Amino acid sequence: MVAAANTGANSHYDIVIVGGGMVGISLALLLRAQQPWNILLIEAQELASSDGPVSGAYSSSFDARSTALSWSSKNIYQSIGLWPQLKKHLSAIAQIHVSDRGHVGMTRIDAGDANVDALGYVVENQWLGSVLLNQLTKTDIQLLGSCKLETIEPLASGMRLQLQQADKDLQTIETKLLVIADGAGSTTAQQLGIQSQSTPYDQTGIIANVSLEKPHGGVAYERFTDQGPMALLPLADFKGRPRSALVWTQPRAMAETLMAADEQAFLEQLQLRFGYRLGHFKQLGKRVAYPLALTTATEQVRRHLVVMGNAAHSLHPVAGQGFNLSLRDAAALANSLAEAGDRIGDLAVLQNYQQQQAIDQRNTVLFSDSLPKLFGLSSSIVALGRNSGLLAMDLIPSLRNSFAQFGMGMATREPGNG
Ligand SMILES: Cc1cc2nc3c(=O)[nH]c(=O)nc-3n(C[C@H](O)[C@H](O)[C@H](O)COP(=O)(O)OP(=O)(O)OC[C@H]3O[C@@H](n4cnc5c(N)ncnc54)[C@H](O)[C@@H]3O)c2cc1C
Repeated sequence: MVAAANTGANSHYDIVIVGGGMVGISLALLLRAQQPWNILLIEAQELASSDGPVSGAYSSSFDARSTALSWSSKNIYQSIGLWPQLKKHLSAIAQIHVSDRGHVGMTRIDAGDANVDALGYVVENQWLGSVLLNQLTKTDIQLLGSCKLETIEPLASGMRLQLQQADKDLQTIETKLLVIADGAGSTTAQQLGIQSQSTPYDQTGIIANVSLEKPHGGVAYERFTDQGPMALLPLADFKGRPRSALVWTQPRAMAETLMAADEQAFLEQLQLRFGYRLGHFKQLGKRVAYPLALTTATEQVRRHLVVMGNAAHSLHPVAGQGFNLSLRDAAALANSLAEAGDRIGDLAVLQNYQQQQAIDQRNTVLFSDSLPKLFGLSSSIVALGRNSGLLAMDLIPSLRNSFAQFGMGMATREPGNG
């Protein structure tokens, strides 16, 4: 197992991160780039299987979720030297094509509108995870896979934690700062009495990779239908064949029918809803269904404690903002801690971090929450309004620029910016 190289037992840490998902690992790497803190990362699952992708070998299949990385995420990964590795298997978004099925409105946002090379970059999570984990194992950050956090006891100087790793004795450690990044509805945060508020969208997001007849030309399609929004994001070709990553939001019952349908029937429904801009859909990868909800933690910081990633805010995926926001949070936290000297657990330091990110978080949550609601409504007046909105966006370059800049994570700090 990968973690074997750096799992040497220690009993005192500067920072312990619970959750080795995309956010937990990215944060660990951002922290390591700042200071030689003594860091431990705990993950409930095995950090990599014996034949896992940690060697950096790339094996694409049709079963992976993909993430649209924003311009701000690119800058963050570039700052810690990971971009050249990530770049090997990602697809740049040259244009975003927004349309509304059955209505006339449509708009195109070009990278040129925002004076950038790309509006974002689509990476398969499998590859992102592989690059992050591979980098992590090259550092001295300690890793404990198959490990559960049993108890948390707040102390004056930090937190005392009891850890249970598979087949090992219970281990007691102390840390100056505990970062909870264990996903939506965090059970670790609940142990400390931090609840999460969850509002279900009564929608399910189905993801799958789709191979295409025509090249996607770097175009990301956002299509709003009366059943819910769908996105087809450009992926790097695989074995010479163009592919896009589908995120298709459906009412729960419809999603169940689509999940049960055979490949042919699924592709026919998709074709019906999307049309023929990419020619005929050729092949479908593994489908995975995600029930969708807006979930936010009631608290994000306490003395010696930060809640991050989906554990802090889990968003509707239609705007592709959840991970990008969390990465901006992680970069901001790493910067704040670097300036804090030996006061990394101080409430004032952590509150200052939260204050810095508050506007970005509020705007991003609002944007991600309002988009599916606005386009999910089917009354003709709303349809007229949203079409005029799309037409207006096509006619008014500054509106398009705002949308483009938001998607890139550039206009999130000051409302109305851009
Ligand atoms: C369909 C879909 C498409 C999306 N597309 C985009 C996109 O294009 N762009 C974008 O920015 N965002 C996107 N997102 C959002 C993005 O996937 C999330 O923001 C991101 O996965 C959050 O990562 P995380 O590390 O916080 O949580 P998770 O990925 O849930 O990771 C949490 C980790 O903690 C571990 N864990 C859980 N409990 C414990 C415990 N008690 N002890 C130790 N470890 C524990 C888990 O095993 C897991 O590894 C999308 C989401 C969905 C559902």
